[in-house]
Amino acid sequence: MRAPAARHGRGADLLPSARVSKHVPPRIPGLVDTHCHLDYPPMIDDLDATLRRAAAAGVDRLIHIGCSRRSMARAVELAEAERPGLPPVYAVIGVHPHEATTLDEATLAELEALAASPRVLAIGESGLDYHYNRSPPATQQAAMARHIDLANRLGKPLVLHIRDAHDDALAIVDAQPCERPGIIHCFTGTPDEGARWLDRGFFLSFSGIATFPSATALQEAARACPGDRLLLETDAPYLAPVPMRGRKNEPAYVAFTCARLAALRGQDPADLALQAAANAERAFGLPPAAASVSSPPSS
Ligand SMILES: [Zn+2]
Repeated sequence: MRAPAARHGRGADLLPSARVSKHVPPRIPGLVDTHCHLDYPPMIDDLDATLRRAAAAGVDRLIHIGCSRRSMARAVELAEAERPGLPPVYAVIGVHPHEATTLDEATLAELEALAASPRVLAIGESGLDYHYNRSPPATQQAAMARHIDLANRLGKPLVLHIRDAHDDALAIVDAQPCERPGIIHCFTGTPDEGARWLDRGFFLSFSGIATFPSATALQEAARACPGDRLLLETDAPYLAPVPMRGRKNEPAYVAFTCARLAALRGQDPADLALQAAANAERAFGLPPAAASVSSPPSS
């Protein structure tokens, strides 16, 4: 989550998705959106329609993030619900660094209890955000350490949100290693910072920011990322990729990011989608795609 206006930062002036865009995401079979916040409007207002549009773009699995005391239980509910013919939703739960001050013993106990669900694939998003510093750095660092401990005890991977804080985050992980390879969601660091996380076995997940013309250092990191460590995400409703920039993002738009990253890496988009999906299966223990996901008949 980069910055929801109400709770976590910028993006207040997003165009309502109701204004129909002439841009339709390319259809790239086998896409996985490894990070989205489906419990935000307008996605949640008609979740089946949101998932149908995602399926039309080739998305066959989604990972939804519940990263606050308020949204953790809802995330498990969303993931456990059956939606025949629609792409399955899995969950990742934790407390966002912006809300690290709320991580008390009761919240940690609830998080641990909820994480017992088989639909909860990972713990997070935790991490450090020194860009907004919505919680004091020391509190964020302590909360991150508690999340590493919990993820290790549960044998689940950890999803990290790191912004302007790679040095401290790397130092915490060096002092308290993750037993399973973790995931840096919405990676926005430099190629060097990317290499340091890769050296520690982490996966790097790229969002729509990688499609922005000005994101040249990030595009360099995306080009340099080994094929077996790259993940794709939207962080919807935030960070809509070009050509939807400034609008509410949604899982279907991961296809735009896949197409752009494939061009950057000199790859076929369909190959990158399948490679990133295989990486998501390894990183999260994501079950294979359900054969039952019906995508609309190709015109
Ligand atoms: Zn985030």
